[in-house]
Amino acid sequence: MKFNKKTIEDIQVKGKKVLVRCDFNVPLSEGAITDVNRLVGAMPTINYLIKNGAKVILCSHLGKPNGEPRPELSLAPVAKKLSEMLGSEVVFAADSNVVSDNVKSEVAKMKDGDVLLLENTRYRKEETKNSENFSKELASLADIFVNDAFGTAHRAHCSTVGVTQFIETSVCGYLIQKELKFLGEAVDQPVRPFVAILGGAKVSDKIDVIANLLEKVDTLIIGGGMAFTFLKAGGYSIGSSLVEEDKVEYAKDMMQRAEAKGVKFLLPVDHIVADRFSAEAKPVVTDNQNIPDGYMGLDIGPKTCEIYKGAISIAKTIIWNGPMGVFEFANFAKGTIAVAEGMSKVDGTTVIGGGDSAAAVNQLGFGDKMTHISTGGGASLEFLEGKLLPGIEALTNK
Ligand code: AMP
Repeated sequence: MKFNKKTIEDIQVKGKKVLVRCDFNVPLSEGAITDVNRLVGAMPTINYLIKNGAKVILCSHLGKPNGEPRPELSLAPVAKKLSEMLGSEVVFAADSNVVSDNVKSEVAKMKDGDVLLLENTRYRKEETKNSENFSKELASLADIFVNDAFGTAHRAHCSTVGVTQFIETSVCGYLIQKELKFLGEAVDQPVRPFVAILGGAKVSDKIDVIANLLEKVDTLIIGGGMAFTFLKAGGYSIGSSLVEEDKVEYAKDMMQRAEAKGVKFLLPVDHIVADRFSAEAKPVVTDNQNIPDGYMGLDIGPKTCEIYKGAISIAKTIIWNGPMGVFEFANFAKGTIAVAEGMSKVDGTTVIGGGDSAAAVNQLGFGDKMTHISTGGGASLEFLEGKLLPGIEALTNK
């Protein structure tokens, strides 16, 4: 996929009002931000715009207020934290309507290098419908639009797509550029061997990712709950493990396609099973792929860990999305830890495709050992499916 969109470095921003769509969808606990990674990710673009004399108007959604003002989902704590991080005040436009005459007069007062943050865009019900009126209101605030919210780039909303129709120039920021560079280069120009590791709960969530990556990888490693649909398709007994009966045929097709293409398709050869889905359940290791009746697979087994680590160790490019087991339960986290640890030692490009695997890698302390951890779960999955992301498509071409 060739990247042909304008970036903030392609335009003049001095003295211009620049509306920047960020991903400030941060986790909150009792009004306090518990993880600032997304704010850190937005800093390069904000700093560039301040340094180059733009009037910086930031916007984002936070959680799901469902089109109404919900004080607990206000972006006020984000304005406070950003002020601390930037070392200068970020004015918070506390307006439940997001854009109003008050906000417009605040914007009119801005000087070059000033920063203002709008209220949660999802306080407006039009936001997620990509409606014209709210898109126009947002566009009326600025001369230029910058999209830097990779996490919502797969959604066509007013603040990601609609706004671009009413503003002349729309470009991407550094975070989106970085995401596209790492995800794009890994998928389209991988140094080989290229290994993809897919896990998580369901095959149905990752059908198109599997199909797209099968065309590109040398090895596809499957773990997590989704492995059991493939094992069932291969004729193994899976006990009471998670399975999607309606995807068994699809799983067979995928395995046949892998064989025809000479792609190594690795499935677990043993498991850690339990008699119930619980953190307290006793972990039992199976001898082989088969799971006895009354037991469910909750993690990949020790032999599988060794095989997967071996395939990972010789890779030069790796993409990983989805845990190998129920890593939230300590007894069933070994497979996910083994993959994270294996990837941390690889001398090559290691990309984590957002969501649970990104959280796992960070929690386990391997975050700084990876080449890139995507900030967008859904967006990175759609990218790996080979889809064009509407929030990026809508930007001005070079
Ligand atoms: P996903 O959002 O599709 O990446 O799925 C992540 C979820 O899959 C995590 O909450 C894991 O606990 C869950 N998961 C992984 N392996 C299994 C398994 N063997 N059985 C049930 N759930 C699993």
